[in-house]
Amino acid sequence: MAEAGIASRRKSEVLIAEGHVQVNGETVTEQGIKVGIHDQVSVDGIPLNHAKLVYYLLNKPRGVISSSKDDKGRKTVVDILAENVDARVYPVGRLDYDTTGLLLLTNDGEMANKLTHPRFEFEKTYVAKVQGIVKNEEMKQLRLGVKVEGRKTHPAKTKVLDTDTTKRTSLVELTIHEGRNHQVKKMMKAVGHEVIKLHRESYGFLTLQGVQSGEFRALRTSEVMELR
Ligand code: URA
Repeated sequence: MAEAGIASRRKSEVLIAEGHVQVNGETVTEQGIKVGIHDQVSVDGIPLNHAKLVYYLLNKPRGVISSSKDDKGRKTVVDILAENVDARVYPVGRLDYDTTGLLLLTNDGEMANKLTHPRFEFEKTYVAKVQGIVKNEEMKQLRLGVKVEGRKTHPAKTKVLDTDTTKRTSLVELTIHEGRNHQVKKMMKAVGHEVIKLHRESYGFLTLQGVQSGEFRALRTSEVMELR
């Protein structure tokens, strides 16, 4: 079921335990039953179609929502893929409406859960344009961890890429493992700098090389294996 993209492995176990799953018409409550391609698995009587698992890397443009639907009718990342992808994919984690850059989308619930679990979080590198000239001491604080909503952030890597003393802005590279809500903006704010622009350059070993803003590509099998 998890492989068919129906639910995570854990949720599938709950569905089985609660008697929602049938194999060839018989309800099963035992975990780990092996099914072959000729067995018909159903959930509450609805047959599972083995959805093919798909994985995409999108270079998210600004002004697009990181979800499959938006109450206010704004364009979503799923809308960008919809014309060329017929699987029902959803984003792995989120980028803010005004953040650009690398976002993964998949219909593999298990993989998405794993990738967003704090224990497995891959390194993510962001470039932030911030107000003001950053100081070495502030970068050191970010490296060691700063308090965000009462909880200290994990150690980060930082690099000052540029400073503009006329416009009084700085360009900072920040690499973090966690994926807390608005984390980079909050980390920068914690050291006194408002983020003006934010871009995610990489996600673990994946980069945006060859993928222009608003474009996407399927992950290679070797890349999917490495994420697993
Ligand atoms: N941190 C943020 O503040 N926003 C994002 O979109 C991603 C990370």
